[in-house]
Amino acid sequence: MDPCLDMKDLKKEDSVNFIQIDVELFSPLNPHIEAELIFLAMEILKAPFSFQEKDIYTLELNTLGCPNCRIKYKEDLLKFLEENKENLCETCKERITRNPLRVLDCKNETCKEVVSKSPIITEYLCKECKDHFISLKEVLDFIGIKYVENPRLVRGLDYYVRTIFEIKAKGLGAQDTVAAGGRYDYLLKELGGPELPAIGFAIGLERWAISIFGDEENKGILESKKFLEKLNPDLFIILLGKELLNEGFKLATLLRKKGIRCEITYEEKSLKAQLKNADKLLAKYSLILGDEELKKKSAILRNMKESIQEEVKFKDWEDLSTKVFEKIKNKI
Ligand SMILES: [Zn+2]
Ligand SMILES: [Zn+2]
Repeated sequence: MDPCLDMKDLKKEDSVNFIQIDVELFSPLNPHIEAELIFLAMEILKAPFSFQEKDIYTLELNTLGCPNCRIKYKEDLLKFLEENKENLCETCKERITRNPLRVLDCKNETCKEVVSKSPIITEYLCKECKDHFISLKEVLDFIGIKYVENPRLVRGLDYYVRTIFEIKAKGLGAQDTVAAGGRYDYLLKELGGPELPAIGFAIGLERWAISIFGDEENKGILESKKFLEKLNPDLFIILLGKELLNEGFKLATLLRKKGIRCEITYEEKSLKAQLKNADKLLAKYSLILGDEELKKKSAILRNMKESIQEEVKFKDWEDLSTKVFEKIKNKI
């Protein structure tokens, strides 16, 4: 996790500091490793949410090709930008010679309009880059990571090659990117280091927080009150008897893996005291397990708000966690 300074704003008195969570992975070109990294980025972002809100981030994917496939692309892009120069903003006019790829990243509406007709890198890929991009998409499809291909995604930095991605949040306006990354296979060498291909991503902590809670300009994915409500336990596991602690812990772990927000008391307390505890924490459900219940392989699931309860029969802990998950998933 690094505190950063925005280079664009160095001249301003109040230079913008922000905090990033960075992940770097040094590895040769490999679609599985890239997919794993993208998966990790998505999982980190989604971690504060329950399983119901997991579709709030969109993954945009592109490839920038290698230096070889970029030669012809840059040529054509430059030609296109020169032809459309009069419609570009002042900054972009300068960018044409300095870093034409950055024009594709401009947030100015008229620039966006021009860029929407620009040549796209994916039509210039060499065989190796093309095959690699196809393999990566196949792996993502296979593991069920949804993505949107955006052939005009560039990330604006010269050192990126091949795979790049951005993760955008719903409802964040123009600055909706909360995480971004890509390959920088030649960067270390260019900086005087070894020839070590790498891929990495950064999550902007502030953008991520705004995407969740909102601020003066943005609503946020969850209004903060609703979000706080989400932090209340979905389920409070009530264990009656010290000898059940290990089992209870195991059950909580299985339920947490399924996305259920679980609480449990590892102290010996009466049923009444534990129910009171569950109430105090505003738990939506409680699951009562005692020696008797364990022998009969049945637990009691209680809807705390409506004060109704039912018996849940089970074969083992995995079975019980699945049954409880199925019963409460649509009500939490
Ligand atoms: Zn290439
Ligand atoms: Zn512009």
